[in-house]
Amino acid sequence: MSNSIKIGKIAGIQIGVHWSWVFIFALITWSFAGGILEEYYPDWPSSRRWGVAVIVAVIFFVSILLHELSHSLVAKARGIEVIGITLFVFGGVSNLGREAESAGEEFQIAIVGPLTSLAIGAGFAILWVTLRGPAPEAAAIAGYLAFINGVIAAFNMLPGFPLDGGRVFRSIVWARNRNLLRATRVASKTGEFVAYGLMVGGAVQLLFNPIGGVWMFLIGMFLRNASASSYEQMVLQTTLEGLTAKEIARTDYVPVPPDMTMDHLVGQLMLVGRGRCYPVVAGEELLGLITLTDAQKLDREHWPTTSVYRAMTPFEKLQTVPPEESATAVLQLMSEKDVNQVPVVEGRRIVGIITRADILRLIQVRRAVAIEG
Ligand SMILES: [Zn+2]
Repeated sequence: MSNSIKIGKIAGIQIGVHWSWVFIFALITWSFAGGILEEYYPDWPSSRRWGVAVIVAVIFFVSILLHELSHSLVAKARGIEVIGITLFVFGGVSNLGREAESAGEEFQIAIVGPLTSLAIGAGFAILWVTLRGPAPEAAAIAGYLAFINGVIAAFNMLPGFPLDGGRVFRSIVWARNRNLLRATRVASKTGEFVAYGLMVGGAVQLLFNPIGGVWMFLIGMFLRNASASSYEQMVLQTTLEGLTAKEIARTDYVPVPPDMTMDHLVGQLMLVGRGRCYPVVAGEELLGLITLTDAQKLDREHWPTTSVYRAMTPFEKLQTVPPEESATAVLQLMSEKDVNQVPVVEGRRIVGIITRADILRLIQVRRAVAIEG
């Protein structure tokens, strides 16, 4: 996640805090100081209330960090590289080098988080019970932290992907049907369902608890986006996995010579349905790409006297890829640079052309086969 501040390393894992975390930190401090403490200790000076509330927020921060660390450490123990942990407004994310390779692996990595939160919550619950008599103030803090860790455990066990519970659910479906893509689809569907449930719950709660209601609604929205986009990414990864640029490139393109006029190009090729994008080639060397957009930029009266060489986008300005580039990287390049076609080249020799439409069609077919098969 970008915009995060690196605060250090634990067990070789980089810990970062996203700026949005400040918001939840403030919310916890404020709701604890203004809510629970004001209710139970109305005679406390406000400096004391706020001081205690900040300590609670820091312990909350550590609780979330321990939750994420548990995911990361189990992943590490299974040989998965852990790139880092980022804490942000809705909790934390562990950035793993790869997805789990088996249902069992995924189950273990996912379940350990809520179990950790549950254990921390249980620890604070014991503190709360033992401190209630001798130190009621400390007991109030322990009780709140027990509650909040319990909520974190319960929330994360909701069966919606990509929450921990959704991952546990996915691993169970995956173990049964042995089809990761289909399991992911099922788990992200329930994720959407859970997300809408949270949004409705948040809207209802608005009536008697505005902050809690807005919060729940926002979490629901976040989860809905997360489940949809993680499914899409999963689909891309699995469907394009192992394919290279050379394999997905089309080789039936129509090369045009540099001295062809624009008039000829439009009239004899574009208008008769031979496509809207042509490599300009001398021998086997790629000089540039000429597209319908280039033709439209030019006044029609200049078409008969302008060569494609003059109107094309020259090689130096093109996004190109080598044949061995991975298909996923090509798609990423296309969306980053907002281009619709990428020539595959060896040096300056053209090997093929990849268009966005071709990739999307390929994904569609492969997805259909992977899910039904
Ligand atoms: Zn988790």
